[in-house]
Amino acid sequence: MAKFSCPDCEFVYDEALGFEREGYASGTLFADLPEDFACPFCYVRDKDEFIALDDSD
Ligand SMILES: [Zn+2]
Repeated sequence: MAKFSCPDCEFVYDEALGFEREGYASGTLFADLPEDFACPFCYVRDKDEFIALDDSD
């Protein structure tokens, strides 16, 4: 599972965890998030602006 970071704040979307507060269950792939997904912390950055993090596994 991959992680994606907001370029503007500390938020990291972890596919393994999802983000249940916004209704995304654990295991939800970043690619499967809605196209209008925006950072739930800063509400500034959109999905296509997130940065994929290198993950050793
Ligand atoms: Zn953000």
